[in-house]
Amino acid sequence: MMQDVVIAGGGIGGLACALALTRAGQRVRVLEQSARLAEVGAGIQLGPNAVRVLNAWGLSDGLTECVAFPEALKVRDARSSATLGCLQLGATIRARYGQPYATIHRADLHSLLLKALRARADMDVSLGARVSSFAEEGDGVSVTCEDGRHLRGAALVGADGLWSQVRTQLLGAHPVRASGHLAYRGLALPQDLPAALREPVVTAWLGDRLHVVHYPVRRGEVFNVVAVVEGVLGQGHGGAAGSDPQSWTHDAHAADLTRALGPACSDLMAVIGAVRGWKLWPLNDRPPMAGPGEQARGRVALLGDAAHPLRPYLAQGAAMAIEDAWTLGRLRADSRYPVDWSALFARYAQARWARNARVQARSERNGRIFHASGLMRLGRNVAMAMMGESLLDQPWLYGGPHAPRAE
Ligand SMILES: Cc1cc2nc3c(=O)[nH]c(=O)nc-3n(C[C@H](O)[C@H](O)[C@H](O)COP(=O)(O)OP(=O)(O)OC[C@H]3O[C@@H](n4cnc5c(N)ncnc54)[C@H](O)[C@@H]3O)c2cc1C
Repeated sequence: MMQDVVIAGGGIGGLACALALTRAGQRVRVLEQSARLAEVGAGIQLGPNAVRVLNAWGLSDGLTECVAFPEALKVRDARSSATLGCLQLGATIRARYGQPYATIHRADLHSLLLKALRARADMDVSLGARVSSFAEEGDGVSVTCEDGRHLRGAALVGADGLWSQVRTQLLGAHPVRASGHLAYRGLALPQDLPAALREPVVTAWLGDRLHVVHYPVRRGEVFNVVAVVEGVLGQGHGGAAGSDPQSWTHDAHAADLTRALGPACSDLMAVIGAVRGWKLWPLNDRPPMAGPGEQARGRVALLGDAAHPLRPYLAQGAAMAIEDAWTLGRLRADSRYPVDWSALFARYAQARWARNARVQARSERNGRIFHASGLMRLGRNVAMAMMGESLLDQPWLYGGPHAPRAE
């Protein structure tokens, strides 16, 4: 009888993995630590590479119901309001990559994946199931949860996020890297925004040691606003010093954000003023992956933030989790039965690690460019004015994901 593949974590990565594997004929068992399956707020940009996968999974109708399709990505100066660069999205990007650029609320993407999964019989989700350890045994993996539950599968995928327990056991306990950046996030209604900013556009405001991004989600009914500033939680920024670093939902105060922004143009201040209730979380990541051994070993694979957490400055964290999942699904569909999971995971790691590492490195570099001050800021603005669109477009990224090598 076919053994399940056990997936630790039911976030966007875990559900995408479950969907990809069940579509390839593999039974899966998802173990999620939370008592209920849901995603906390904040928007996600879906580049053509992520939309390509979601459409391939038959989700295009569901996506169209809840995404917005921005017409452009505009980069503006937070102080002067000048436009520094612009990338046409809409029909231009669709023609270039065969897929649109979309923006979505995290909760909507999560429910879309969950709905697609629930329509399948070959999967099972256990809630309140926090994976604490695993052991590779003969032709399978046994997995233990904190509440004492044991189960056995043919293989284990750790999709348990930045603080992954599976990663810690597989690769050793290396602490996450604090970026020194804090993300304030909130939602604003279009009617509360300045008229010129209600258009379907992704706008990125760049300032000294900060940036703010906003874009429509839910077909434009609401705008997602994220402001990233440099600072430490509990020291002039919401929460209490020493509060849970793993929480995404620290209480935040608009006054702290306004102080951190310093002098900003009136349009940007109007966007900040339009947000009804801010939440805050510290951004952490890990250095870029150094080799395939960080993506999988034996019958255990890592996926999404568990493998390659990154700063959100290339807007690709969820997209890379979705690409990882798609790759696993493709390899499983191409494999012969009984599946040699160690060999399949080795091909998965080879197919994924370098691209994930590149996205991690580019995200980190974008953060330095976005937050530049002084001479570096002037240089950045000149480069954007001269090279504009070619700096913002990412053919190597948006043209993916690329099919893995089969058996
Ligand atoms: C401000 C910000 C903006 C972003 N913008 C974008 C964007 O525009 N585009 C984009 O693509 N990405 C974006 N991202 C990144 C994206 O949100 C993440 O990379 C993505 O959600 C990772 O998904 P994941 O499933 O790997 O991890 P997570 O979302 O962290 O999910 C992990 C799941 O595992 C569960 N879990 C944890 N430990 C255990 C355990 N031991 N046992 C069982 N379950 C466990 C958790 O409860 C959770 O449900 C952004 C991130 C931030 C912070």
